[in-house]
Amino acid sequence: MGLGTVLGAKEAYSAKCVESLWPSANRAGVTRATFNRAFQGFQPDPEVVEAAKYQPEYVKPIGEYVDRAVSAKRLEKGKEKLLEYKPLLDALEARYGVDRHILVAIWGVESNYGEQPGDKNVIHSLATLICSGTKSKYARSQINSALKIMQRGDVPFEIMNGSWAGAMGHTQFIPTTYTAYAADYDGDGKRDIWTNIPDALASTASYLKVSKWQPGQTWGYEVKLPSGLNPNRISKNTLKTVGQWQKLGIVRINGQPFPRPGDKASLFAPEGTRGPAFLVLNNFRSIRRYNVAEAYALAVGHLADRLAGYGPFVQPWPTDEKRLSLEQRTELQQLLISRGFMGGDADGIIGPDTLDGVRSYQRARKLPVDGYPTQTILNMLRAEIPPPLPVRKSEVLGQTQSAEAVPPLPAIQDQTGSIGQPQPAKAPPPPAVEDQTGSIGQAQPANGGIELPSGPPANAATNGPLPAIGSGEPATLGAGEPAVRQN
Ligand code: CA
Repeated sequence: MGLGTVLGAKEAYSAKCVESLWPSANRAGVTRATFNRAFQGFQPDPEVVEAAKYQPEYVKPIGEYVDRAVSAKRLEKGKEKLLEYKPLLDALEARYGVDRHILVAIWGVESNYGEQPGDKNVIHSLATLICSGTKSKYARSQINSALKIMQRGDVPFEIMNGSWAGAMGHTQFIPTTYTAYAADYDGDGKRDIWTNIPDALASTASYLKVSKWQPGQTWGYEVKLPSGLNPNRISKNTLKTVGQWQKLGIVRINGQPFPRPGDKASLFAPEGTRGPAFLVLNNFRSIRRYNVAEAYALAVGHLADRLAGYGPFVQPWPTDEKRLSLEQRTELQQLLISRGFMGGDADGIIGPDTLDGVRSYQRARKLPVDGYPTQTILNMLRAEIPPPLPVRKSEVLGQTQSAEAVPPLPAIQDQTGSIGQPQPAKAPPPPAVEDQTGSIGQAQPANGGIELPSGPPANAATNGPLPAIGSGEPATLGAGEPAVRQN
């Protein structure tokens, strides 16, 4: 078979796949002219499929992720942006009540202050995901919104770019979030989050405001746990007042009093007793509306505190784990499946199912329950050889059946990113955004308390319940309290 035949088959498949999107787009109000223009010359992008399989927030320990997201360079650049956009930030704080350091921190983590907004055509990325069967459920939920944005002309089609997952512009809004929450701050009739910084930062502020951001309050406090309190035995969903947590012996790491003992907080100790621990408040849950991953919210909150002049976390992160390769992640999933700790398929994509599987395993082995798929967990699973099946003598032929049977080799999933191959039937995890932007995907939501307003998150589709928020104190503008206040 010649190369031409292969390419021809792929092109035919792509054309058929694109045409299958038309009836739904048509029902959503997309014109045929828009549709044709959008898909003129469309070719699936193998890089999109490849990127969809790499989710740094799950293969990287949280401390490494936070350290990378809050790099010295990003901090320095953020301080410059605070000065450069001071009048705009003054106005946005006054209008939306959202702290300027949080706005700048989100800008920094999402797109490196607009330097890395993603250069892939959003509609083509989404079509690639749909046609390749990789995160196609998510992509299907976004593509008609993307086509409508193009049709309205908020941005020229040529620069309607974003990440591989279709997160767009400075703020990395996915199309449905853009449609619901983007703001036209300068009043020119266009909500331009691609090239207009006032529109972009106002969109972020507007979105945090509807996510019930409480002005003047921090997202959380770094705390010291009393000896004997095992954070792994406390559900992340447990909401208590700060005062109730204090009665359990939890204090701020710097010894300062909690300013509002009535705030509803949950305990967030992602590395158990081996790393920093936090009481996280309403505003942490608001940040998670932007991107539900806890690592993301922690990175944004911490970068904001650092931009405001406060110091690093007091307790260091553990640094003893290497991250897993795609093959190792697939093997880890296979081992978890074969031992009954998770269902579904081993595809090397670490999503909520795998995190739950790792947690179940950690619980069963009385390990700290953090859900991180580490080298240690993989090694432990490898060492747990299932008991050998009874073997008849005739099959053994005099050889001793070794008890050290090698576990089945992992099935390596297609890594070529070739389009059109069926993917595992497992429901795809929500999107994560490219590593260089520091953006991340899905983690387990905290819940309990009051429901957040309905509507899509900024850049991570959610499978489960969105993080809910507790009752906030009356809004009082003023300096928030950082996690690690130095004075
Ligand atoms: Ca505008």
